[in-house]
Amino acid sequence: MSSDRSGDSKYRVGVAFFYHESHSFSTLRTDIESFRQEALHYGDQIISAYSGTQTEVGGFLAALTNTAFVAVPLVAAAANPSGQVTSETYRQIKSEMIAAVSNSGHLDGLLIALHGAMVVDDCPDPQTDLIKAIRLATGADLPIAATLDLHANVTAELIGQGVLCFGFHTYPHVDMHTQGVRAANALMRQVIDGVKYFQGFAKLPALLPSINMRTASGPMHDAFVAADRWETHSDIVATSVFGGFPYSDIAGAGASVVVLATDTDVAKQCCADLAQKLWSSRGEFLVQLPDAKTAVDLAVTRIYDARAHAHARKPTVLADISDNPQSGGSADTTTLISQVLKTTGLRVLFGAICDGPTLDQCQIAGRGAQIVIDLGGKQSPQFGEPIKLSVEVVNLSDGVFTNTGQMNTGLVVNINGAAHLRSGMFDFVLTGRPITANDPELFSHLGVDVADYDLLVLKVKNHFRAAFEPLVDQIIYVDAPGVACNDLVNLPFKNLPEGMWPLDRAATYSPAPLIIPAN
Ligand SMILES: [Zn+2]
Repeated sequence: MSSDRSGDSKYRVGVAFFYHESHSFSTLRTDIESFRQEALHYGDQIISAYSGTQTEVGGFLAALTNTAFVAVPLVAAAANPSGQVTSETYRQIKSEMIAAVSNSGHLDGLLIALHGAMVVDDCPDPQTDLIKAIRLATGADLPIAATLDLHANVTAELIGQGVLCFGFHTYPHVDMHTQGVRAANALMRQVIDGVKYFQGFAKLPALLPSINMRTASGPMHDAFVAADRWETHSDIVATSVFGGFPYSDIAGAGASVVVLATDTDVAKQCCADLAQKLWSSRGEFLVQLPDAKTAVDLAVTRIYDARAHAHARKPTVLADISDNPQSGGSADTTTLISQVLKTTGLRVLFGAICDGPTLDQCQIAGRGAQIVIDLGGKQSPQFGEPIKLSVEVVNLSDGVFTNTGQMNTGLVVNINGAAHLRSGMFDFVLTGRPITANDPELFSHLGVDVADYDLLVLKVKNHFRAAFEPLVDQIIYVDAPGVACNDLVNLPFKNLPEGMWPLDRAATYSPAPLIIPAN
């Protein structure tokens, strides 16, 4: 193909986004409304929603600018992590995606941001199902490149579709835009120069808890040091080390390695090396955490100790990881909250608790009102009953703000309303939908400054560190009751393959990567 195209003869690249991380045991259902609340954009709406943002689609669009290519925006659909996607919702978005592909005229390639851990009630691997359907509509040889979350449950079937894969190298995920750009660049080389790629794929029989999956330190850090070293090899285009999402009850759950290369032998060698390293470090992913009472006692001791020694005081964090919305939590469990409410003499901020009925009550009562509420415990009462409290409605908002933190920077977020409540020394931020407190704007758009508190009780796991680490002192992870619990043995898996570590501590593995040509 010639590369000297201009004007309306530019190569046309479809841009799409279909994103969900599905917790098979969450009490929340993921329906079309869940996508409307987070992102459901068509055609040019995609350009205005993502241009200039530090997102994967933002990366696709930036890379295509001022090249021989033009972006053809198709469909962008994303919902906050929660329970499995309903079959009806998936079918609707899939058919809209296929219609957009079919109606967009000739495409020379497709860039798609897939989270990679979506599960649909009647389809355990919708990523592969979607790509197959797109290939049916466009022809089997359309070049396709995808970005994937570090927590993707990647399957051999997806790699078998010849999709160039670019997984995040960071957790917290602050390289979304970078990977979007890399995917676009590789795709453009494939289209213009006819570069022939191969992918090595290794699936590990390992269901890794994500608590120690951060890339700043620990086993995932070591894996990416090795991956980055391999990327200096002239035949390696990209390496992806996927920790996987351990709460999806599917045959394809678990860790994997994908290597995009221009040489089959190098792809195989690199893939086997990275897979073996990850498998060898599997024990480091298992971390024992304190229960709610032990964690609160630890935090209180820490705060009073800092006061006694007149240390510069930043807030201590209790991270309620089992109810983290980005791991499928409902953001309304109350076990840890109840425990913290027994403390005295500490200024405490709880956030963000999703409680639509209480938020409605606050909005009716208005700013400054004193009301009695039943806080939380509505969606997941098995993890703590609602808590009766007398509170002042300090502030209210429509729940729309723009991210200022390092993740998804510049993206407009709508959390369906928010409220700042106060009961004595305890402050609460309530939201109209589950949202992980990754971005400080979640609080500051309500006039809440986290620096004003001794203790932050947050429904978060690791992503919040990107923006909050400079603002806080010690971070204490808590193993309170909840669906995103740390110990996977507590979950009633039915569909995993036999021999998955750590459920089967005797599981064995020896890497034997598949080598699959990418189109
Ligand atoms: Zn992730």
